[in-house]
Amino acid sequence: MPQSPRLEVRNLVKHYGATRVVDDVSLSIAPGQVTCLLGPSGCGKSTTLRMIAGVDMQDSGSIHVDGDLVCDTVFRIPPERRKIGLMFQDFALFPHLSVRDNVGFGLSGSSKEKLHRISTLLERVGLGHYLDAFPHELSGGEQQRVALVRALAPKPRIMLMDEPFSGLDNRLRDEIRDDTLSVLKEENASVLLVTHEPEEAMRMADEIALMREGRVVQSGAPYNIYNAPVDRKVVSFFSDINMLSGVIDGASVDTAFGQFFAPGFENGTKVEIVFRPQHVNIDFDRAGQGPNSTEIAGTPARAVVERARLLGSESLVEFMLCDAGTKIKAKVPNVFLPKPGTVLWLTVRRKRCFVFAQKAD
Ligand code: ADP
Repeated sequence: MPQSPRLEVRNLVKHYGATRVVDDVSLSIAPGQVTCLLGPSGCGKSTTLRMIAGVDMQDSGSIHVDGDLVCDTVFRIPPERRKIGLMFQDFALFPHLSVRDNVGFGLSGSSKEKLHRISTLLERVGLGHYLDAFPHELSGGEQQRVALVRALAPKPRIMLMDEPFSGLDNRLRDEIRDDTLSVLKEENASVLLVTHEPEEAMRMADEIALMREGRVVQSGAPYNIYNAPVDRKVVSFFSDINMLSGVIDGASVDTAFGQFFAPGFENGTKVEIVFRPQHVNIDFDRAGQGPNSTEIAGTPARAVVERARLLGSESLVEFMLCDAGTKIKAKVPNVFLPKPGTVLWLTVRRKRCFVFAQKAD
């Protein structure tokens, strides 16, 4: 039998003035699942989170936890009784309380039980020896871990996290993200994590709900969103893109890289073919002529190098297609820095190209 959702959000709507900042958002999170609410700044992620936490009230829609109504437009359980843990970027530890007291604040049970819970969680994040330290004696990363432990100590059924890692420097952030994820999984908490960073969502999420202008435009496993995006903006939210335009003619479309099979469109539909720079190959020996290679790579197209830059472990080369006058970016492993004006042949990985009907933006 399928597991019933721990958190279920149905058709949430919220206006500020005349603007509908959350527009019919529905989400369902299973016990132990991590869902990332991902989207650009201002698209309504935090507002959604605040309604689930109970600190903001929706205009319509409902929130259920373990099948029980927590809030709709008539009935409302106050935030402190929702058994929901909160963790925000600007988490504030009480400066005058020790780590033990910060974590134990508001925790119920006997002193012995509380101390056991506090010590176990602190040990788990490598801070067992800081029980009696004060916040100012800890680094930013250590304070972040204490904030996580504090949010988890009361065993919340749901954890809501709003950009919790964005105050940390890069190297520390990766480490704390991974640690946090494994503690959340061990605790079997259902997590809704807000982020505007695609890499963070890909790294943390079992499921991503991608938001744009108040709406969830696509949700699913990170692999599916990355590899089966619903439109060009979803592709470009995760990476740089290349784009070719064309017109459907008999279930295919002609481009500088040969014909693309594009079923499901009416004849004459204007389409865009979208692909990522890492899926452009430099065809040094015009390998497109070999057996099976056209199926994989299509027809090679001639292109002139405009600019090449080293990004670290890979190089970014910008081209202009000779025949079509379209710019193409290619990401190539290692150091590859051809001089501007060099003419090369390019292919694209067909299976990594997406065809969408052209839409006005
Ligand atoms: P995100 O978390 O995706 O960055 P928010 O949910 O914080 O976005 O905000 C969505 C929109 O609602 C933004 O345009 C923001 O300016 C607006 N907004 C958020 N809170 C308020 C508020 N209290 N009053 C008026 N407008 C608000």
